[in-house]
Amino acid sequence: MTERADATAHTISANRRAAEREPDPSDLERARRGHIASLADSTIVGPGARKVFDVEAYDFLRRGDSSPDTVNPNLWRHAVLNAHHGLFEVTSGVWQVRGYDISNITFLRGEKGWIVIDPLTSEYTAQASLQLINEHVEQRPVTAVIYTHSHADHFGGVLGVTSRAEVDAGKCRIIAPEHFMRETIGENVIAGPAMARRATYQFGPLLPPGPRGHVDCGLGTAVPISPPTLLAPTEDITRTGQELIVDGVRVIFQLTPETEAPAEMNFYFPDLKALCMAENCSHTMHNLVPIRGALVRNALNWSKYINESLQLFGDKATVLFTSHNWPRWENSDVRQFLVLQRDLYKWMHDQTMRLANKGFTPLEIAETLELPEEFQRHEHTRGFYGDLVHNAKAVYQRYLSWYDGNPANLHKHPPSEGGKRYVDLAGGADALLEHASSAFDRGDYRWVAELVNHLVFADPTNAQARDLQARALEQLGYQAESATFRNAYLMGAMELRQGPPANPNPNVRARSLVREMTVDQVFDTISVRTISENLGGVSLATNWKFTDLRGTPDEQWTLGVSNRTIYSTRGSHTSDAAATVTLSRSKFLDIVLQDTTFVDAVKAGDVVIDGDAGALITIFGNLDTFSMGFPIVEP
Ligand SMILES: [Zn+2]
Repeated sequence: MTERADATAHTISANRRAAEREPDPSDLERARRGHIASLADSTIVGPGARKVFDVEAYDFLRRGDSSPDTVNPNLWRHAVLNAHHGLFEVTSGVWQVRGYDISNITFLRGEKGWIVIDPLTSEYTAQASLQLINEHVEQRPVTAVIYTHSHADHFGGVLGVTSRAEVDAGKCRIIAPEHFMRETIGENVIAGPAMARRATYQFGPLLPPGPRGHVDCGLGTAVPISPPTLLAPTEDITRTGQELIVDGVRVIFQLTPETEAPAEMNFYFPDLKALCMAENCSHTMHNLVPIRGALVRNALNWSKYINESLQLFGDKATVLFTSHNWPRWENSDVRQFLVLQRDLYKWMHDQTMRLANKGFTPLEIAETLELPEEFQRHEHTRGFYGDLVHNAKAVYQRYLSWYDGNPANLHKHPPSEGGKRYVDLAGGADALLEHASSAFDRGDYRWVAELVNHLVFADPTNAQARDLQARALEQLGYQAESATFRNAYLMGAMELRQGPPANPNPNVRARSLVREMTVDQVFDTISVRTISENLGGVSLATNWKFTDLRGTPDEQWTLGVSNRTIYSTRGSHTSDAAATVTLSRSKFLDIVLQDTTFVDAVKAGDVVIDGDAGALITIFGNLDTFSMGFPIVEP
């Protein structure tokens, strides 16, 4: 294992300065309130006793130690709160299991069974949570599952609380905001491999837990290591004000599209006076775009929908709970919480655009904006997950793109080429390192990171450069209040020392998500893999017939190559097709998931090709594969 450095004097003093504030002690009460029981086992395991979530690994947060020099004290305190784990009573008839996943699972007592809100990321953590409530409150079946939104940490564990058979038999309803499936699959299709790799920097699952390694994810302690499962909703919520009786419990829904997720909803239980704010509110400033990468979120919508929640439910709710962190109690507190959360997203939006409209560029805006005292004072509006420095850039990007308007930045050299020239300008590698070392001694780690990055990209074999860069990123990580920034810095440092992961699990991609893909999405996924340089001069078309989609617009497709690009057309066949392929969508997914090959499926008679099979080889033989361990901090 790599040597992790101590905090430098600069880091120690930065962290001491950060500790000079009086935090709100009531969050500790909130995180503890209603605790009933915790899991007896210190780990949650999956098949073959594989560790899915290691509770014990985070015991260092529960020892009552004061913040170590290697962790920002505000982040440390937040991590300690997230590390509270177990089954908690939220209010009469509502429980949450927290601390065994990055997200919360909520249970409501229905007439006949449990109504589950957001069944976590992993079926194993969800199952352990269900067992906990069955054991300590009452053994009951799960009669409904509500997904608050289209992110995997809110549906991925669904098979841990119910099954396809229960749902098909009508014993368990699954309720979600409209377009849930489209957005769930959509977010993961086109950019899936890149996003998954970048997510390891955001969440830091490969970092060893500890004061010099992983301490938290902002939204929760850690992400369980387990591919998500998925069952499609049986009912969509399509409008605000829609009311349902779910297992005898009244629910009023508020749709909040294009907020924290593209498909999301809040809801209110009028008979319990309990408000679920999904992930539209958390005990942290959220991301307007996560550093793993995603489409930029709409901060303006986000704020307006929180304002609508206030209007609809703010004068009634006496308890508010969310899908991450801990609840809030009492109406006045609920209102104040909602007002601050509403204003936080609007403030970031408005002030970024105010400065943008005065001509400031993203780097300048991020440096100029300072979170006002009104938000700094409260824990839930500080950046333990999102970070103002990143969120300001997200707002800018949404309206004005990555480009800052300065043509000097319009067509820059890529990192390796630019790097060589900077190293040359500095007078060679040694001169650059000498300059960077004195910057390190001054504690200017941001400058070291920028400068030495040029050298690492010019010459990734320079061991001194890699070491200095790792040490600079490490100190930046130790000082970061945002858990995601910390994780990214420490992951960068680790990979500079060890290289990218040699054996990243290639099959971590969620099979059950792929199972739910439409034909259109499968073709889109395939197109992104086209090795265009091999397809010069190729022009062909194939007809596809999906036997299990008979009578739907998806039954017939044309898939072709034109100008080195794969295109697909729904609902029609072309008369000049080189071949017609007849198969089921489910067999097609088997091939995509590599459970079988095209050739084997043809041999087995599951795929019938009428015409020139070579046309299909031209398409499927020229698809790229993606490595889950591509380099990030080096070329
Ligand atoms: Zn979440």
